[in-house]
Parts: sequence; C-alpha cells; structure tokens
Amino acid sequence: MVYYTLGNINPKYRSKLAAIRLLAMAKSADLRPSGVDIILKRIKEDLEKLSSGVEIQTAGGKKTVYGAVVSLCGDTLAQHEMAGFKEGVGFAYSKCRHCECSFEDMQSQFNEDAFIKRTLEKHIGQCNEIEKTQTDLVRNSLKTTYGINRRSMLVEFPLFDLIQQTPQDIMHVILEGIAPLEVKCVLNHLIQAGYIDLDTINSGILGFPYSPLDVRDRPTPISVSTITSNDNKLKQSSGQMLVLLRILPFILQSLEENEHCHLLLELIEIVFIAFAPVLSNATVDKLKTLTENHLKHWKALFPDHNVTPKQHYMIHLPSQIKSLGPMVRHMCMRFESKHVFFKQRATKQNFKNICKSLMNHNQIYESCHNVDHSVHPVLANEREMGPVSEVSKIQELTEKLWVLGIREVQHAVSLKWVVIHGNKYITHKSLVLAKVQNGNIPQFGQVVNIFVVNSTCIYFECQLCQTVCFNRQRMSYQVEQPEHASPTELVKAENSQASILGEL
Ligand SMILES: [Zn+2]
Repeated sequence: MVYYTLGNINPKYRSKLAAIRLLAMAKSADLRPSGVDIILKRIKEDLEKLSSGVEIQTAGGKKTVYGAVVSLCGDTLAQHEMAGFKEGVGFAYSKCRHCECSFEDMQSQFNEDAFIKRTLEKHIGQCNEIEKTQTDLVRNSLKTTYGINRRSMLVEFPLFDLIQQTPQDIMHVILEGIAPLEVKCVLNHLIQAGYIDLDTINSGILGFPYSPLDVRDRPTPISVSTITSNDNKLKQSSGQMLVLLRILPFILQSLEENEHCHLLLELIEIVFIAFAPVLSNATVDKLKTLTENHLKHWKALFPDHNVTPKQHYMIHLPSQIKSLGPMVRHMCMRFESKHVFFKQRATKQNFKNICKSLMNHNQIYESCHNVDHSVHPVLANEREMGPVSEVSKIQELTEKLWVLGIREVQHAVSLKWVVIHGNKYITHKSLVLAKVQNGNIPQFGQVVNIFVVNSTCIYFECQLCQTVCFNRQRMSYQVEQPEHASPTELVKAENSQASILGEL
C-alpha cells in the first residue's frame, strides 16, 4: 500500500484520515517478478510533470501547481525495499541506510559524527560499481558490503535525495523496537534483583488515573510469559507503549535512585523530544547528547546485549529533524490507520482482482469528499460536543470575554465535554496549558467550564494551578492546586494544549 499526504496542509488537519490518500496498491506476490520499481516508475512520471508545473483550473482561474516528494515514510523493511537497500539488515555488512557503519562500530560509537555518512553521489557510485561487476560472486559480495540490493527508481525521482529524505520512522524504531526492548530488560532486571514485583507494576498500570486523552490507549498488564520470553516484545500497541513510557516514572517512583530506572528516564526524555511537534535547535542538539549518553549507559548496564540496528538509527534522528522538521510529522501511525478502511472492505469485495475492487471503492469514496462544495472534510472543523446547558453567570462571562477583546456576545452555552481535533476535554478532569510564564515555565489550568460563544468559539474557564517545578524523576511538571478559591481565567481552546494529568 502506498499512501500520500500533502505537506502544505496544516499539521492539525493532516492527521485526519481524509488527508491520507491512496496512491498505489499491489499484492506482494504480483510484485515479486518485476520488483517494486514498476510502481515507482509510474509515480515518477507524475512527479516529473509536477516538478515542472501542472496547470489546473480553480474557482479563481487557472493556476500552475508544483510538487515534489518531501519524505518517504515507512517501516525499515518497506523503506529499504523501496530504496534498494538490503531488507534483512541482519545479513548486510552495512546495516544503516544513513551511514556506512559496521556491526562492530555500532557497538562502540554512539555519535553520528563518528560515522561516514552516506550521500546520494556515493550511493550512485556504489550502484554503478555493483552493476559493472562481471561475476555474480563479486557482485553479491559488493551488495553485502554496501548493504545495497539494487539501484532503486527513487534515484531518478526529481528533486529527491534517497538518503536524506527517507527518515527513520519513530513509531517503528522507537515504540515497536527500542522502547519494548529497553523497558523489558530494565523491568526484568528490577524483578529478578527483587526491587519490585510484577504484580506491583501491573497494579500500577491498572490503577493509574489516566487522562481522557490517554485512557483509550491504556497499556495492557504485562503477563509472566511476556516478561520472561526471549523476544524483545511487551505486547503493547504503539499508542499503549507511548502511554506506558509516560506512566512508568510514577509506577517506579519508589526506586528513584536506581541506576536502571535512570536509564529508563533517559529513554523517556529522548522519546518526549523525538515525538515533540515543535522543537528548538537547542533541544535538537540536546537530543544528540542525550542519545549518545543513553547508549553508553545501556552498554554499561547491559554489556551482554548488543546495540541493535534500531538503537543505532536513533543517533541519526537529530540531523533528520534539522533537515526535515519534527519526526512526528514523518511517522506512519496515521497512515496505518487508513489500512482499517481497506481491511473492513476487503472481506466484502469481489476477490477476482481485490486490488482493483478496493481501488474503485476508494476512488468513489474520495470523490464523495469533493461533492459538497462548502468545506472539504480535511478542513472541516470536526467537533463533538457533550450535553449543553445554559450559562449561569452570563454577565461574568461577558466581562471576561470583553477583556479578551470579544465585544459582542450574542449567544453562549456551557458544555460538559468537547472533542476538538480528536482530543477530548472534560470539565473538572482535563488539565490544559493556560499560559507560559517568564518565557518558558508553563502554567496549567484545570478546566472547570467549557463555553461555546457565538456558536463558533470555544473557551475553557480554567482554575489556574501553580507550577512547582519540572520533576525529572517523574518526567512531568509538578503542579499544585490553589488552597483558596482564586479567580478563574478564560483560555481560547485553539491556544491551549491538552496535557496528561500530573501529580497534584
Ligand atoms: Zn547509521
């Protein structure tokens, strides 16, 4: 399955399924004889037209539209197949598509600068070398040395650099790779050394007061067979793994001084930065140092464990963020949600040519989005609202809105809960970012009322909490509720961001 999304759609709308469109679909068995390049060849033709400009008719007249691929996202297997690298990195001498590292270097060097980076020019040179060799023996040995299978059609994509623009997918690399591996090793160590037992961990998972945002990805308790198995899996989905990482510092709070728990805190800090939607250059530099120190720490605490290719891929994240922006925008999580659409329909289709049937169905579905000329579903403001009631203190609300510059209040109602851009806010349960003090200290507010003003704008009435500090041991902000009733503040919903309910 090949999907695409447009980079110039605002990120808050881009994660909607309507913004993810199908580009190509094929059965892997059908691709085996010809390879994936047969699909890429057709996509390349379109991209060539787009790079030189395509004239389209819009409501405002004719317009020339330009386009190019910004990044090719996917799990390691899919990206290596598309880009022509060895798919099973275990057999390749060079296991990384961003640098020419060997297995031995991977175990001892944890700074990107210590490795020879791959470049597009060098890659093309290596492909030429492989193609020019006379014998299969030499060719296969070169392929293993370079970790390259073939010259991919991606090399010919206009304005595309197959080395720089195939970023690591943090969902697969971190949430399905590094995080379960490291969390499992640390928990196993803590249990075997008698610091904590599995029941305590599981009751922590079950009893945690999850925020309305996290409750849908509540982690599953860890079974004895899962924790003792020899694989690197924890049987959590990516969403569950992310929530588990957030709550682990609370579950393991009795072991604050433990060296292995510190290793987990380092990982959690790396994950928070890697998944951040906005980053400063200073934070990206910090990520580089954190990753290097973390991998050294891992090697010191678990000398019998090899640094896996996925752990190595982490060292390339800072430079990828610098060239392509936050990694969360190049993640596959939402693309994989689109699979559900096809999986649901696959059982009800004509099976003679299942790809064609699904393509047709999808084409009709996507065309339906264009029928209503008012608002395309991508840009539609999806809101779900809970029970509505009358505003009891309308005069007080009007005065507060006046301070925010809203001079005319024609209509206002109060809500019990509201869903905005997929996030649910509930009165007396949700904590939102109300404002930022002194440049970088966030101040949180507990939502005590939700108002819809003039049918369009949503405001949270917040009881402001005092930010005590950023508690590194919990990887959370520690806040305190005011002892006495203090005046509340209105915060426009669009300006606030939901956050996990921390330690009050
Ligand atoms: Zn590398």
